[in-house]
Amino acid sequence: ISTTDLIESHRICVCVRKRPLNKQELNRKEIDVVSVPGNGSLLVHEPKQKVDLTKYLDNQVFHFDYSFDETTTNDLVYKFTAKPLVQSIFEGCMATCFAYGQTGSGKTHTMGGDFTGKQQNSAKGIYALAARDVFTYLNHRRYNSLDLSAYVSFFEIYNGKVYDLLNKKAKLRVLEDDRQQVQVVGLEEVYVTTAEEVIRMIQAGSACRTSGQTSANANSSRSHAVLQIVLRRNDRATTLHGKFSLVDLAGNERGTDVSSNDRSTLVETAEINRSLLALKECIRSLGKNSDHIPFRMSTLTKVLRDSFIGEKSRTCMIAMVSPGMASCEYTMNTLRYADRVKEL
Ligand code: ADP
Ligand code: MG
Repeated sequence: ISTTDLIESHRICVCVRKRPLNKQELNRKEIDVVSVPGNGSLLVHEPKQKVDLTKYLDNQVFHFDYSFDETTTNDLVYKFTAKPLVQSIFEGCMATCFAYGQTGSGKTHTMGGDFTGKQQNSAKGIYALAARDVFTYLNHRRYNSLDLSAYVSFFEIYNGKVYDLLNKKAKLRVLEDDRQQVQVVGLEEVYVTTAEEVIRMIQAGSACRTSGQTSANANSSRSHAVLQIVLRRNDRATTLHGKFSLVDLAGNERGTDVSSNDRSTLVETAEINRSLLALKECIRSLGKNSDHIPFRMSTLTKVLRDSFIGEKSRTCMIAMVSPGMASCEYTMNTLRYADRVKEL
């Protein structure tokens, strides 16, 4: 099955990726409660207690377009998720790829790879792999005659506000005109000619992302990071041809768990929950071919409005899950959410 077939047949693709148990989890002798038998299915062995207080494991089964186990590489995940979307923007589509899940479940590992962290030469993420393919397709005979150029934007949405990661975190306004077109006023859009340029920009931008404190991870990301690769025609108006938005979402852990009563943390969490709910509703409307897309519900969905409307929208969600018993509740939340955005 070729990528073109995937583009034609599939408007929404929902996948799940399980990461391996990490050092801390292994040290704590945590049990792996997630298994991936293949064919898009995934099982959670949820610990339960009967009325008589005996403990047992309840198997919950989920089905997605693809399920990736802990041995899967970024390369393979990319091939089945974002790669068809890269091609789709050359066919004029508006594509989005979301990394969804609990803090520490592997969103940034999948999107940014480990180059955004300390290690320099380890696994490339979807950002880098997509950038590489954009330039491959740009030079491909099939798309050469379109006379396209690539541009990149990179911004963060934190507490409903947009900050430009390519321009010293300048705070930007989101405006909607009378034709419902949404604009992020003043957003940097940098002309790029090589994948290396794109990667350097992402590295610099990632270094200044907002992080906060949660119980799940001391340096967790409480913001959504949005990388946009835009194709424009080299005509006088530099007309938009296609756009790919790659979104590393904020952690989806629930407010009830946040051990701190800190007001700013509660506000942060409420805003994250609101935007993730809005995102779910927008993807569901896309799946149902509904005319009404509730994109105004959050800043995240507002700035992605173009990607939820029309025939040429393509979306892929990769739901990340941690395998440990201690993460079970979060894992179930993530899987239920992913289950809800599947195309009917
Ligand atoms: P998130 O962005 O969802 O908070 P990260 O991507 O930062 O989570 O992942 C947390 C840690 O787990 C990182 O040290 C990362 O390198 C590691 N990790 C995540 N996914 C994988 C994976 N599939 N294979 C190996 N290590 C992973
Ligand atoms: Mg992260």
